[in-house]
Amino acid sequence: MIAPREVDHVIVGGGLQGCLLAHAIAHHRPAARVLLVERSDRLCGNHTWSFHASDIPQQTRVWFDPLVTKKWPGYFVKFPGLSRRVGIPYETISSESLREATVRLAGGTAGRQSLEIVYGEPCEIVSPTGVKIGGSCRLDGPAVIDCRGCTASAAALNSVGYQSFIGHEYETSRGWPVAEPTLMDVRADQACGFEFLYELPFGPDRVLLEYTRFSEEPVCSADRAERLIATRLAEAGVDAAKLVRTERGCLPMPYAAAPGTERMSVAGGYAGGWYHAATGYSMPLAVRFADLVAKAAPEHIAAELAAVASRDALRRGFARFLNRLLFCLVQPTDRWKVFRRFYQVLSEDRISRFYAHQFNVADAARIVIGRPPAGLAPIRFAKSFFPRTGPGLT
Ligand SMILES: Cc1cc2nc3c(=O)[nH]c(=O)nc-3n(C[C@H](O)[C@H](O)[C@H](O)COP(=O)(O)OP(=O)(O)OC[C@H]3O[C@@H](n4cnc5c(N)ncnc54)[C@H](O)[C@@H]3O)c2cc1C
Repeated sequence: MIAPREVDHVIVGGGLQGCLLAHAIAHHRPAARVLLVERSDRLCGNHTWSFHASDIPQQTRVWFDPLVTKKWPGYFVKFPGLSRRVGIPYETISSESLREATVRLAGGTAGRQSLEIVYGEPCEIVSPTGVKIGGSCRLDGPAVIDCRGCTASAAALNSVGYQSFIGHEYETSRGWPVAEPTLMDVRADQACGFEFLYELPFGPDRVLLEYTRFSEEPVCSADRAERLIATRLAEAGVDAAKLVRTERGCLPMPYAAAPGTERMSVAGGYAGGWYHAATGYSMPLAVRFADLVAKAAPEHIAAELAAVASRDALRRGFARFLNRLLFCLVQPTDRWKVFRRFYQVLSEDRISRFYAHQFNVADAARIVIGRPPAGLAPIRFAKSFFPRTGPGLT
C-alpha cells in the first residue's frame, strides 16, 4: 500500500525513458524528490539498447556516460554488392546495467537526490499533476511524466509497418572473429520482407545475434531466426555456443502523418512520440527529452517540449515518409535496396545526423534524390511526400 506524500516529479513507467529521466534529474536537480512507478516487478525489461555515439548530445554525456555498457569504434553493413565499414563509434546500454544503475540511485549512494521506486503497481494518470497508484493512492506533484512506452495495442493501429526482432546472446568457447558490430547483414534471400542479422560482439567470448524483419505483420518466425543465427555461428567457426539470453519484441513503425493527440500529462519515450520513426529507436530523442525535462522548471516543461517538438516536425514527417516508402511503395522483396542505397550514397556525417534525428534538408534530399527504388513510378514516389493524416502512433 502506497502512502500519499509530497514529491517533485512522478515518473510513470520504469523503462528506457523513465530510467534515463531519473538519472538526468539526479544530475541536474540532486535535491528533487522523485517517485518512479513501474507496474512490473523490475525495471527496464529485457533489451539491448544500441545507438550511434553521435546520437548523444555532448552536454548530456556527464550523466549518460556511466550508463553505457560497451563502446566500439565503428561498425559494418553488408548487402549484396555493398560491404562498408562505417567509422562512427557505436555504443550499447543493456537493460541490466540501466536497471542496476537506477536501483543504486534509489539506494541513495549517488548523492542527495531522493529517488523512490515503486514496483508492481499500475499507475493511472488522472490529471496533469495527479496519478492514482494501484487504484487507491492518489498523489499530486508538480510534474507527472508519462513514460509508459507503446501503450496502443497493435490491433488498434493501422498505417504502421513493424520491425520485429528475435535476438540470442551466446557465450562462445572460441573467440568471435569480428571485433566490431554488424548493423545489417543482408544476405538472406529476402523472401519474407526485409530481413537481416544484427551482430553485437560484446567481447571475444560473448555475442548477440539478432534476427530483424521489417514487415506488415508484427511477427517473425522463430524457425527462420534460428536458421539464420545457426548459419552465422557456423560461418564464424563457432561450434560450441551457450545460449545465455533471448530477447524478442516488435516496434510499430508509423507512416501516416502524426495525428494531434490530447494527453493528460507530459509524455516521453514511445508514449510521447520521442522516438525516431524511421529507425524505431528511442535513444537519441529519449536522452534529449530527459535532459530537457530535468533542467526545466516543472511549470515550463510542457511549453519547452512543445517548442522542441515543433522545431522537429519536419524531421518527424520525413521519417514517416521513409516508412511509407518502405511499407507502401516498395515491394517487400525490394526493401533492402532502400537501405543499401542509404549506405551507398551517404557520407558518415550525413549518416550520423540521420540516426541522431538531427538531419537537415540537404541530408533528406540526399537520401531520396536519385533514381526511385526499382519498380516504383516517379510520379507515385513524388506524391507520397504528401500524406493524409491517418490513425497511427504519435
Ligand atoms: C527487441 C528490441 C530491440 C530494440 N533495440 C533498440 C536499440 O538498439 N536502440 C534503441 O534506441 N531502441 C531499441 N528498441 C526500441 C526501444 O526498446 C524502445 O523504443 C524503448 O524501450 C522505448 O522506451 P520507453 O521508456 O518509451 O518504453 P519502455 O522501455 O517499453 O518502458 C515502458 C515502461 O512502462 C511500464 N508501464 C506501462 N504501463 C504502466 C502503468 N500503467 N503504470 C506503471 N508502469 C507502466 C512498462 O512496464 C515499462 O517498464 C528496441 C526494441 C525492441 C523490442
